[in-house]
Amino acid sequence: MPYWSMYCIYCSGFIIDGLLECVPAAKRSEPAFRWLFKAESGAALACPYCDELIGFGFNGTP
Ligand SMILES: [Zn+2]
Repeated sequence: MPYWSMYCIYCSGFIIDGLLECVPAAKRSEPAFRWLFKAESGAALACPYCDELIGFGFNGTP
């Protein structure tokens, strides 16, 4: 599993790998999971600290 982490652009909370290891195996085949897995444009995750949605732009930048 690729490792990535980032700081929330809203609250600066440190997010480690989006907790992707918590996603059930059955859900991992969905396109949304692959996008998030690779931090591709179009993927988004909710910050665990402030609940804001963080999307990824081109090159995986938040
Ligand atoms: Zn946040």
